[in-house]
Amino acid sequence: MVIQTLQCRYCQSEKLIKMGKQSGHQRLKCQDCNRTFQLEYTHEAYKPGVKEKIERMAHNGNGIRDTARVLGINKNTVISHLKKKRAK
Ligand SMILES: [Zn+2]
Repeated sequence: MVIQTLQCRYCQSEKLIKMGKQSGHQRLKCQDCNRTFQLEYTHEAYKPGVKEKIERMAHNGNGIRDTARVLGINKNTVISHLKKKRAK
């Protein structure tokens, strides 16, 4: 896993303090905007636009493995997203 510089997901501040773990995810608090968030959201699959890319690639006939490799996310993330999409 690539180590990223931790930033607030709301204001991009790097002044973060650890708030302990909740359901296995590190929770962080931003000292600038006082908001808390999970580290999990800094992962590739949660970034804006990734879900749209998964859908676009699926429509273009790309396999799940291809999609996961190109976007740099886990194939299980691709599968679960497509399943959620189909359930609607
Ligand atoms: Zn912040």
